[in-house]
Amino acid sequence: MPVLLVTGGSRGIGAAVVARGAAAGWDVCLTYRSDAGAAEDVAARAREQGVEARAVRADVGVEAEVEAAFAAADAMGPLGAVVANAGVVVPKSRVDAVSAARVADMLAVNVVGAVVTCREAVRRLSTVHGGPGGSIVLVGSVASRLGSPGEYVDYAASKAAVDALGLGLAKEVADEGVRVNVVRPGLIDTELHASGGQPDRVARIGPTVPVGRPGTADEVAAAIAWLLSDEASYCTGSVVDVAGGR
Ligand code: NAP
Repeated sequence: MPVLLVTGGSRGIGAAVVARGAAAGWDVCLTYRSDAGAAEDVAARAREQGVEARAVRADVGVEAEVEAAFAAADAMGPLGAVVANAGVVVPKSRVDAVSAARVADMLAVNVVGAVVTCREAVRRLSTVHGGPGGSIVLVGSVASRLGSPGEYVDYAASKAAVDALGLGLAKEVADEGVRVNVVRPGLIDTELHASGGQPDRVARIGPTVPVGRPGTADEVAAAIAWLLSDEASYCTGSVVDVAGGR
């Protein structure tokens, strides 16, 4: 089985994607930014499925580190799929209070990191580059259509960029054997919210979601795993919301 590279695979949605990928038989290369222990645990659990798995420290906001992560995946075998999942939220703020530095730091990860990840993926997967074809899934957010007013409009804007990246790239490489799709989670119960300074966000907003609860990382990973699989062979340029009706 070819290699699946998952950015931000040490916890949350990325870790759930690694688990589903390993269960489907992919060898997995997962990246993380800081928590080596968590990343190694995720890789060890993947290996229990009988596949090869490797955790690589790589900040997706640093171009050379993304390149190094792909080189580590190359060492495992031919690349077959990439999930550009790593992303960050920012502390709650109105737009009239944000600093340029905050926005630039977030865009470096959520947008530049996603574009560079896609670049490295296409260079390996596209038939134009001699690749075998493959699948890319970008993890966006329904924030791109909700706008996140009073909370983090700048984050929502970064995720709107991810939508556009997915739609445009899908058309760019559609006849080169590469499918590109976007999965947009809604309110998902992960540590992301605490990292953005709102540890109570899931409990607070969960009941307001139309289905009455937050989603799980595995519910998002299920959609991603399907889009990666041959079952989704006619899906490219799709945007799949996993958001409980939100
Ligand atoms: P999470 O629980 O905070 O996990 C984030 C993962 O990304 C961790 O593995 C983290 O590694 C890694 N990471 C963070 N910054 C990174 C960087 N600069 N370079 C490489 N890896 C980095 O987040 P999540 O909730 O699973 O979110 C995953 C994706 O879903 C993000 O793109 C997020 O915007 C999107 N999303 C989430 C929700 C939600 O409600 N949770 C909703 C919509 C969209 P370390 O552990 O080493 O820091």
